[in-house]
Amino acid sequence: MKPLTETDVRASFVNLTKGATKRLNLPADLAERPWEDLDYLGWQDPKAPQNHYLVTEHDGRLCGIALRASRESRGPRKTMCALCATVGDVALLVASRAGRSGQDGNSVGTYICADLDCSLKARNKRKLDTPVIHETLSAEQVDRLLGNLDSFVARVLRPA
Ligand SMILES: [Zn+2]
Repeated sequence: MKPLTETDVRASFVNLTKGATKRLNLPADLAERPWEDLDYLGWQDPKAPQNHYLVTEHDGRLCGIALRASRESRGPRKTMCALCATVGDVALLVASRAGRSGQDGNSVGTYICADLDCSLKARNKRKLDTPVIHETLSAEQVDRLLGNLDSFVARVLRPA
């Protein structure tokens, strides 16, 4: 994806109020992220670790999604990420739906790599703590990640 500035990131959120968008803590290393290898920008709020954020392009526009670690889950556990299909430390994250639906309390939950580094895993650029059987090529893994990411964003945007 193309490198994003702080302004791009703050303006992209679809499920946060304007006030919350201004207050959220951006990653300190925004300028040094490996943008050419990223399908989404993901980070955990350094001051509020239950808050996670994901910013990606969807239908030609930038979509930022705020996620919260589910209260039922006790931290990351070894399971499969719903985006990149890697088995590792995965967190159950919940996003309020965009707009009215989210204000009414509707949300979408999904399992995502706790480090929000699916893009690097799909490209085999991240050392994994569990050995992975490379039964698919990296390009296929990236395609699968993009497809899953797209349908997740669509679920957040779609009214319940
Ligand atoms: Zn993942």
